[in-house]
Amino acid sequence: MNRVRCLVLNAALGPLDYKVPEGMVVEPGAVVECPLGPRTVIGIVWEAERLPGTEVPVEKLRNLRGLLPVPPLSAPLRRLIEWTADYYVASLASVARMALSSGGALKGPATMTEYRLTGGLPERMTPQRQAAIDALEGEQANIRELAGIAGVSEGVLRGLVNQGVLEPVEVDCDRPYDPAHPDFAEVELSTQQREASGIFSEAVRAAKFAPFLLDGVTGSGKTETYFEPVAQALRMGRQVLVLLPEIALTENFLHRFEERFGAPPVLWHSSLKSTERRRAYRAVSEGSAQVVVGARSALFLPFRQLGLIVVDEAHETSFKQEEGVRYNARDVAVMRGHFEQVPVVLASATPALESLQMAQSGVYKKVDLPSRFGGAQLPAIDTIDLTEEKPPQGMWLAQRLVDGIEERLGRGEQSLLFLNRRGYAPLTLCRNCGFRYQCPNCSAWLVEHRFTNRLACHHCGHEAPAPKACTECGEPDCLVACGPGVERIADEVAERLPQARVFVATSDTLNSPGRAAEFIAAVEAREVDVIVGTQLVTKGFHFPELTLVGVVDADLGLEGGDLRAGERTYQQVAQVAGRAGRGSKPGEVLIQTRHPEAPVIAALAAGDRDAFYSAETEMRREAGAPPFGRWAAIIISSEDDAEAREAANRIGAFRPEVAECLILGPAPAPMALLRGRYRYRFLINARRSVQLQDVIRRWLGALDHPPGVRVAVDIDPYSFV
Ligand code: ADP
Ligand code: ZN
Repeated sequence: MNRVRCLVLNAALGPLDYKVPEGMVVEPGAVVECPLGPRTVIGIVWEAERLPGTEVPVEKLRNLRGLLPVPPLSAPLRRLIEWTADYYVASLASVARMALSSGGALKGPATMTEYRLTGGLPERMTPQRQAAIDALEGEQANIRELAGIAGVSEGVLRGLVNQGVLEPVEVDCDRPYDPAHPDFAEVELSTQQREASGIFSEAVRAAKFAPFLLDGVTGSGKTETYFEPVAQALRMGRQVLVLLPEIALTENFLHRFEERFGAPPVLWHSSLKSTERRRAYRAVSEGSAQVVVGARSALFLPFRQLGLIVVDEAHETSFKQEEGVRYNARDVAVMRGHFEQVPVVLASATPALESLQMAQSGVYKKVDLPSRFGGAQLPAIDTIDLTEEKPPQGMWLAQRLVDGIEERLGRGEQSLLFLNRRGYAPLTLCRNCGFRYQCPNCSAWLVEHRFTNRLACHHCGHEAPAPKACTECGEPDCLVACGPGVERIADEVAERLPQARVFVATSDTLNSPGRAAEFIAAVEAREVDVIVGTQLVTKGFHFPELTLVGVVDADLGLEGGDLRAGERTYQQVAQVAGRAGRGSKPGEVLIQTRHPEAPVIAALAAGDRDAFYSAETEMRREAGAPPFGRWAAIIISSEDDAEAREAANRIGAFRPEVAECLILGPAPAPMALLRGRYRYRFLINARRSVQLQDVIRRWLGALDHPPGVRVAVDIDPYSFV
């Protein structure tokens, strides 16, 4: 039969049938070029019986135009694509697109030209040429990258090429990665670690689906523990996927990996250059990429023979994708393990309630690391009631916390202050006319950044210079900063403890792997006394001299109270507390709060995790919230408010009546304006027995909207804005 059904990468089109031309051999999963009108689109050959088809007679079918030189997508990956589209109510094409995530890789083998110094000198030396020659010693890259490294224009480098100072070198775009060695430097595990890793390694050997929850306190050595099963997979010639949140901050992880396996892993994240992307993609698909460390998008890479999946810090909300296909990488990882028939390890010190519930009901096997490695103790936790121990006027730190920092300064130890707010102040207003600076594109205040002297929106990136006079009433010097951000806390520390060396650690200052590495080196060299940071510093770091953690405002996360506010606060504070006392010196944590009696705060102070989780579990059970019931959100948006509202009302008019399924809305979303789009929302709460996705598909599938309207479905939402 020379007729095939293809999933084409165009969300507006269903599957299309084609004829396979003479001489072309395709199998399911093959990536092909399909003619579509006058154009060519990329498609994937699919099992015809799994996709709804067309009845076009074979004589009318057009020929496939070509077969792309990449291995076909495997059956387990095809099943994962189907499952993801079905579960998250997304089009197959938009999910399939995530699996074909490197355009370059699909074009097949290629070479590229790079340049390096020859050792020769130009006829005429200029300061710029000299600077370039000095900077490029030992470097090899393309002209654009070299210009970036040397800090000169590309023109200067082209001049050097003409003069024979730089020479071209043809390199294979897909040159192999250095191999990782399973036995390069084995680590001696503690008894507790050995038992845990033995369970995982056994599962890797068995090569079957087995989901695990590795529940280990901060500093218990979860990484060392899952490195053993990684080694086991390597010994069997199988590939490993390790998912990490916030890939920019994984220097520490990469370093440990290289020490253990003798080579760095293959990286996958959104800021890879296209050449790095194609190289990684091809190596993954050919099986030569042994260990891939990546952000959530690595989940859809076409592994040839996977042996193990690890999701580290599995509770992290950044595993939830908030645009396009709104999937949760933690859950999709488990499904990939299921289809690939490999074990999946979800590692966390503060697992999501959903994961714990899966463990309790026996679906996941729970493996515990109850104590810190090397005899380090968990820190002592105390609360500071801000209603009693008031900070001085216009300040944010209680005297007891400042005293604690001063004590550490005296002993040469380090402190960390945590506040999840970038910038100097979250709101700027005019003392004269009361005007508040708001983002023109979002329902949000502009945040003052003193380092850059700008007002910025943290939702859309809008920025403006901080005005000297009020832009509304024209009064000079009347703008007041309201509330603290990390920059303001850093100023306060500098004012109250002038001898302290303070470092502000946020995504503004640690915005590249290089900057992050510099930060780590500076802290390790004890060039920093006080770190003031956002949630970026709550995890992954291991600083033995850090003995005090101060939580500036534990109530912040509880405001606005969405479903997971309590859990998120618990996780954040427990994680940041976990940075204290990781070495031989004991750690202390001081939590500033106006509600020391709130269940989350009380549980944190008492170190009673079980109390928190069981109270939270009961609360969710009563509310019919996940994991006991299900939520979904539908967001309707348009650049035109009236158009968005009308579309939402029309959808509302067709709302289905389904037993045990409550549909709320439409109502303006809490962020009624976001990135220039007006937003209306439905929230759906259903019992587990309801086929929620089917309900939504039937409801929305029958309706059309003007082209400017976007309808986004969010299953198991994390964001309620
Ligand atoms: P977690 O991720 O559980 O918070 P880490 O994996 O970061 O903990 O480990 C904490 C520290 O203890 C790290 O510096 C790690 O290198 C060290 N460590 C853990 N286990 C071992 C071991 N078996 N041998 C040597 N060092 C270890
Ligand atoms: Zn904005």
